Amino acid sequence: MSCPRVLFAGLFHETHTFLEGATGLDDFQVLLGADILGCKGDSSPMGGALESAEEFGWEVLPAVDFRATPGPTVADEVVETFWRELDARVPPQVDAVYFVLHGAMVSRSLPDVEGEMLARLRQRVGDVPVFGVFDLHANFTSCMAGLANGLVAYRENPHTDGRQAAQDAAGLLQRCLITKQIPRMYWHHPPLMWPPTGTGTATEPMRSLEDFARQMEAETAEFWAVNVVAGFSFADTAETGVSFVVVTTGSEAQAQAALERMGSRAMQAKESGNVTDPSVAEAMAQLDPVPPGLTVLVEPSDNIGGGAPGDGTGLLRALVERGIPNSAVAINDPEAVRRLSGMQTGGRAVLPIGGRGSQLDAGPLSLEVELLRTSAGVFELEDKQSHLASMCGDRFDMGPCAVVRHGGLTILLTSRKTPPFDLGQWRSQGVEPAELSVIVVKAAVAHRRAYDPIAARMFWVDTPGPCTSNLRSLPYRRIRRPIYPLDTP
Ligand SMILES: [Zn+2]
Repeated sequence: MSCPRVLFAGLFHETHTFLEGATGLDDFQVLLGADILGCKGDSSPMGGALESAEEFGWEVLPAVDFRATPGPTVADEVVETFWRELDARVPPQVDAVYFVLHGAMVSRSLPDVEGEMLARLRQRVGDVPVFGVFDLHANFTSCMAGLANGLVAYRENPHTDGRQAAQDAAGLLQRCLITKQIPRMYWHHPPLMWPPTGTGTATEPMRSLEDFARQMEAETAEFWAVNVVAGFSFADTAETGVSFVVVTTGSEAQAQAALERMGSRAMQAKESGNVTDPSVAEAMAQLDPVPPGLTVLVEPSDNIGGGAPGDGTGLLRALVERGIPNSAVAINDPEAVRRLSGMQTGGRAVLPIGGRGSQLDAGPLSLEVELLRTSAGVFELEDKQSHLASMCGDRFDMGPCAVVRHGGLTILLTSRKTPPFDLGQWRSQGVEPAELSVIVVKAAVAHRRAYDPIAARMFWVDTPGPCTSNLRSLPYRRIRRPIYPLDTP
């Protein structure tokens, strides 16, 4: 076999369509042409695939790689720029395509960006094998299944195997190039979706589904790969949800039979994947009376690390309504900080607080507050090994801040949303979190490194917000119905 010419491209974004705003071109890390080769050997899926390419002796034709962290709906400009750059780098003759995808990208105009890009690419490259890798939080589509030959999903969540899955997919492409056998993909989407909290592969239902998929791969010679796709439920598209994909050189009937078996197993386990948090009322019952030590109330619906605005009023309202003493919450509200500027410490004002960042929130809460202090909001990280440190270095800039008090509740108002991953956020503002009775944290899991050492207990609470695990509270309009858990099947 002469050295096969393989076109390499990457397009990676997990789009949360319930977040306000847009993910623009500036939010993407863009690599063009030969710059992509710099990823070779690094820990990314692209890095793993390029290393495999070298091992197999492919001639790599690097085209374009766009990556961004999860965020709101992608601007059309991003997709058109991606396509223009890719289109310009498709040579007259290629033997195969290798695509690094996330698989849950949604733009203003396209609910299935990956499907559309595969369709346009097919037009350009013709009937050559198209292989690649994707994140198991993809919302896989019939279009993707029909237009690619061999896409391999990560098998682990948390994703410790992105690079390995990319190399497995490269191995399948090599098998295709050597044997001249070209597989195709079949896809099955049962009427089911799970919140991200229900998609960990160390626990049910994903663990059994992954085991079953590996068993089918091992037992069926025609199956090149069997993918369990957990889906990304924070995207409102027709094909959002859990699905299964078989890459096979066997018959359609054989593939469909396997897919049906996986689908029915998933439906049987549907409730175990619908991992939701207790209601505000349930959490507040635990605070009556307020127990000794620090109680951390975790508000995952307003998870700042997941792209939420950090100004949700769900738990703020609950603390005010119940008059919880010695409590605190940070709310990102530059408008409220501005209104307090120029006021003397000890001054009082009625202030609308929070509730502007998401239409899912009840809206700003007006409170009479006393101003305790104002600051520039820059703090030195206490934990230089934290996730926050990896993002920002030694200091974090919360923007101008104000600390105010309403009864027993202290509110830290910030001008830049601040992931609650470092206690310096509070101590720099004169508040000692370890001495509080109750503190609200807008996160899902990543706050634990900072808060576990000072917390006597932690309660996760369901409030309205874009990152809620209670999927029934999100305003789906486009998703195909019926679907669990929105409908009773
Ligand atoms: Zn993922």
